[in-house]
Amino acid sequence: MSERILTGIKPTGQLTLGNYIGVLRNLAKMSERGECIFFIADLHALTLPIEPETLRQNSIDLASFYLAAGLDPNKVTLFLQSSVSEHAELNAILQNYLYFGELSRMTQFKDKSSKMNESAIGLGLFAYPVLMASDIVLYDTDIVPVGEDQIQHVEITRDLVNRFNNRYGKVLKMPKYEVRKVGARIMSLSDPTVKMSKSDPKGDIFLKDDMKTVRKKIMSAVTDTGSEVKYDPENKPGISNLLTIYAAMSDKSIEEAEKDFVGKRYGEFKTAVADVVIKELEPFQQRYQEIVNNKSYEKVLKDGANKAKAIAKETLKRVHDAVGLLNI
Ligand code: ATP
Ligand code: MG
Repeated sequence: MSERILTGIKPTGQLTLGNYIGVLRNLAKMSERGECIFFIADLHALTLPIEPETLRQNSIDLASFYLAAGLDPNKVTLFLQSSVSEHAELNAILQNYLYFGELSRMTQFKDKSSKMNESAIGLGLFAYPVLMASDIVLYDTDIVPVGEDQIQHVEITRDLVNRFNNRYGKVLKMPKYEVRKVGARIMSLSDPTVKMSKSDPKGDIFLKDDMKTVRKKIMSAVTDTGSEVKYDPENKPGISNLLTIYAAMSDKSIEEAEKDFVGKRYGEFKTAVADVVIKELEPFQQRYQEIVNNKSYEKVLKDGANKAKAIAKETLKRVHDAVGLLNI
């Protein structure tokens, strides 16, 4: 049987070049390799305050961006998390198998909650890994492609699977994460020590930026002292980030990318980075716009939800049986 590959993105904000390099641009290739389940993590988007209209708009955008990434809707399953109620149902069961201590140690929770007033931190933000584990095991997932920031959440899912299966027998499938070699963590262009993030936009390139803006943002990206274009994330975080973007967007290794700029100046280097980004982003954006205009995402999402539900129902039934819930 072919591998089942699952990935989700939250409709929390405008998609960034980080999301594109970390996930979106690899999806078409992935769909040739195995059975792909891609979803819009709209329930997860509620874990931080968001306006209803923004959430709606972001969800449509995200669906369109997924499709613009070159997915064949007949081959992949694309749907909204909230359309398949089994995610929430499984979450209600699995929340009893992850514990307070380990959830408190999650980097994402610490990062996001540290910026908030304690009285405004919702339970959903804390329990995020439980819902994510539910998303993953619901489809007997083999592979979860992620950026570096999400490794910890797949690892806690693996702990949960072990714990659950030790107690009840082999009920849940053990997932594995997969991280890209190049571009698993694209950093902000204005502060290359922080991750480019859509819900906390600082120096982000947005997938909806016009090409003039994209070029301008890259040309004015923070660089480092010295003049050599060299990969050295510790001492040259700005240049290393731009090299990573260049390498990822031109399907080169970091070493190959470095060779392209031996003896070149920062300005010349930045122009080349902007060129490779724009070359790919421009047609991608046009495809996105067409999909938004003709609303082709609607049928895809509906069909996707039905396909997903058929799988999810079976898993949930298995879990009910295992823990002693009557399937009546
Ligand atoms: P948020 O700020 O809401 O957390 P985000 O930009 O981190 O948004 P997510 O929805 O959390 O995006 O993640 C979607 C996918 O994109 C995940 O697989 C994640 O690992 C990947 N990803 C997110 N940011 C980056 C980045 N800067 N570089 C590479 N991959 C990334
Ligand atoms: Mg994130």
